[in-house]
Amino acid sequence: METSKKINLLHERQIAIVGGGPGGLALARLLQLEGANVKVYERDANQKARIQGAIVDLHYHSGLKVLEEAGLMDAFKIRYMQGADRFRVVDQRANILLDDFIQSGRYTFGDEHFRPEIDRGALRDILIDSLLPGTVIWDSQLITLNFSNDRWEMQFRNGTFASSDLVIGCEGYRSRIREYLTDIKSVYTGAAIIQGEIDDPKTACPEIDHMFNNGNLMAMGQEKMLTVQPRGDGGLTFYAAAMYPENWEKISGINFNNPEEVCGYLINFYNGWHPAFHQLFKACSHFTYRPLNYHPLKLRWQTRSNITILGDAAHLMPPNGEGVNLAMLDALDLSNCLTSGAYQNIEAALKAYEEMMFARAYPISEETVAGIKDFASPNEESIQKLIQIFSGNENV
Ligand SMILES: Cc1cc2nc3c(=O)[nH]c(=O)nc-3n(C[C@H](O)[C@H](O)[C@H](O)COP(=O)(O)OP(=O)(O)OC[C@H]3O[C@@H](n4cnc5c(N)ncnc54)[C@H](O)[C@@H]3O)c2cc1C
Repeated sequence: METSKKINLLHERQIAIVGGGPGGLALARLLQLEGANVKVYERDANQKARIQGAIVDLHYHSGLKVLEEAGLMDAFKIRYMQGADRFRVVDQRANILLDDFIQSGRYTFGDEHFRPEIDRGALRDILIDSLLPGTVIWDSQLITLNFSNDRWEMQFRNGTFASSDLVIGCEGYRSRIREYLTDIKSVYTGAAIIQGEIDDPKTACPEIDHMFNNGNLMAMGQEKMLTVQPRGDGGLTFYAAAMYPENWEKISGINFNNPEEVCGYLINFYNGWHPAFHQLFKACSHFTYRPLNYHPLKLRWQTRSNITILGDAAHLMPPNGEGVNLAMLDALDLSNCLTSGAYQNIEAALKAYEEMMFARAYPISEETVAGIKDFASPNEESIQKLIQIFSGNENV
């Protein structure tokens, strides 16, 4: 009887994952579970070098599924932020349009509608702590890549070098490795976010603290949008989205390093809004301007035999609550393709992965980009539509 022999594509091969975000770290974990030889090269100086951002919600069919496959659900259940998945939608005068807080606790683990939130730093810690010691090489910002003698030579900003057989770019929206696959650049969507961080909302902006109550607060009105989210350390992050011309950061005349100037701009822009929102801007001492770009996915690249990308590096899109989930799902698909034994060689495995990744990301990206104005500058009609969706009316 003929027996099929599993092909071990990664035998005696070194794999370099560049970028230790949720996508890269999930991939490292999944590959290590299969016995692969993996290193993660990460730009940050160390694990605690910076606040990773606000919370992210993981979904049943993507982020949570990956954690399950990675054997990390128990760790997640210890660290997730219970109740932070609740949300409240208010208008510009802080009148409640939709309140999910009263329904809090209606879903739990095992229910496909449950979208538990976790602080990004906590998610990163769970993934890093699951790796073999010494897997993450910190302070390793990739600057160039050269292919010689059948290996990739990587050079890092700190002056060090490393080499590997297979390189996987997981370094997010400014991916260097992407340039080795395609020259298709990211495109501006027409919208941008001004992000603010507040460490102690309880004293710095108590009205907002009371309003968002450690859940998600979305304020919409006068074709403006403002989102407030808790951080795991008791702080909050807010996102003030709007449609702006390209390069507005440079042409606006606003110095984004000067919090008073940015605050003055926001108070003026949100003129007529409830004073609690102005208190929020005044409480903020650090703002970041984030233009929202995307990668057009209609055009694809030719699969290569020893290099690929995943997550934002492959399919940057405006925030839609899917980015972390998609990056982790890419990691699962790529790990499965490389270790299932179903493909004759690495190139065939990478091709199969890239097809899955494109097929999944393309429609989501198209829909998000098409709806960018509803997100950044919602009119009455789009607010009503959004409320219907949040209320659970799937037909809208
Ligand atoms: C304002 C905003 C809000 C968002 N909210 C959500 C949300 O609620 N839910 C959600 O699912 N998604 C959200 N997203 C999207 C989400 O953040 C990304 O899709 C997700 O983080 C992508 O994961 P990644 O692993 O591909 O890349 P990243 O998370 O970007 O990680 C990349 C890593 O690579 C490192 N790196 C970068 N360059 C180099 C280099 N040259 N060499 C070595 N290392 C490098 C970085 O330090 C980083 O650790 C949001 C995005 C934005 C902008």
